[in-house]
Amino acid sequence: MSRAACPNCDEVFDAAAMPSCPPCLAEAWLATPTFIRPKHDPRLLPLRWESYRSVLTPNFANDPGPHLVFAARNGTWYRDNHYEMYVHMTHEPLGRSAGGGIPEGKTSPEHGLDSLLIAEADSEVEAHGFAVSRTTFEQQVRAGEFEALPHCNAAGCNNLALLRASECAEHQTPRGAAKP
Ligand SMILES: [Zn+2]
Ligand SMILES: [Zn+2]
Repeated sequence: MSRAACPNCDEVFDAAAMPSCPPCLAEAWLATPTFIRPKHDPRLLPLRWESYRSVLTPNFANDPGPHLVFAARNGTWYRDNHYEMYVHMTHEPLGRSAGGGIPEGKTSPEHGLDSLLIAEADSEVEAHGFAVSRTTFEQQVRAGEFEALPHCNAAGCNNLALLRASECAEHQTPRGAAKP
């Protein structure tokens, strides 16, 4: 545990577990108009899709706020080495399954999916959520497709590095400042 204070909302969070403030992160996701894309929107069912896809639960789609606040506080960031982006993974947001999987050519979910994956999770424009299987995701982590965030480079610092940086907020060289 390493306490960090958000400069925007004064939230104090554990910088060893997350690189940024959870309430501000949830707020950014909620402000993204295309966070739930048609492919993953259960409100459009029944709707045939050409390939396998997953849909979120109606509970999630109708009121994403509490789920996303929970996700921001409890989920984990990863770097997606295949698509070269950051994703955010939460197992059972609010203690519930996140959605269901729809086989190719079918129109409704045929199996439950327990976890919420947010792709491009640091983008205020591209962030979007969908349901995945925790077991499958963990296999992908072991295979190196997803990688945990690195820790801060500063000696003895246990914080996670900020996204696209080598240090945590406390140790980051301010942008534009000359490195010693
Ligand atoms: Zn904040
Ligand atoms: Zn640090």
